[in-house]
Amino acid sequence: MLPCEKNPEIAVYVLYRDMMSYGFSETYYTQARKAGVIFIQYEKEKKPVVTVSDGTVQVTTTDPILGREVQIETDLLVLATGVIPNLSKELAVAFGADTDGDGFFREAESKWRPVDCLKEGIFACGLFHSPRSLTESVAGAEAAAQRALRILFRKSLPAGKVVAKVRHSLCSLCERCISACPYGARILDSELEQVRVNPVMCQGCGSCATVCPNGASIVEGFQKQQLLDVIDAAVSF
Ligand code: SF4
Ligand code: SF4
Repeated sequence: MLPCEKNPEIAVYVLYRDMMSYGFSETYYTQARKAGVIFIQYEKEKKPVVTVSDGTVQVTTTDPILGREVQIETDLLVLATGVIPNLSKELAVAFGADTDGDGFFREAESKWRPVDCLKEGIFACGLFHSPRSLTESVAGAEAAAQRALRILFRKSLPAGKVVAKVRHSLCSLCERCISACPYGARILDSELEQVRVNPVMCQGCGSCATVCPNGASIVEGFQKQQLLDVIDAAVSF
């Protein structure tokens, strides 16, 4: 229950720069407005100013609707903290995790694989993923654990039918295919001096084959004719 619902004498102001609610959280916003909470937006260039005099805390801000400065005397001032990612680049690279434009974990697919990394076997939850509530963090952690169990319960992991292969006699070890592989399925084996493919991690996307200058990277089980048939089918409409 909001303080102003309990006691209508209490005035609650929320000063915000940008507000976005999603899913059912919109109802909290509506509920707060109905209960009399006043939301005042401020611009980045005109941040609210807090002053303390004679033991009284006062907040000065510009109300964009009134178009003038307003002073709010407060009994209690609560500062909300923002969440910024704390994922070191080295750690992300070590686990093969990709990050989004804000520096948080990038999931393989937001709807169908929301806790999966593109690289098989890496999962994310909580604030590693994005700013989220406790309930969402717990739900994400349960989902990540379920996904991990799917792998851990198996005695062996089946590889996909379409996997990449390296024709070592043609390979010049330029390593282009390693950086092109979005699933981290390729490594340079420096002892054998060979590029090797992890068949479990390979998703058969074909990126390695497109960048290989020597035709040394091939995708087994895939024939050019299949792609040409797909193109034919697409342009025939
Ligand atoms: S086919 Fe795709 S996933 Fe497999 S090794 Fe090549 S780039 Fe990586
Ligand atoms: S891109 Fe081709 S030539 Fe270069 S390392 Fe990969 S397989 Fe070898």
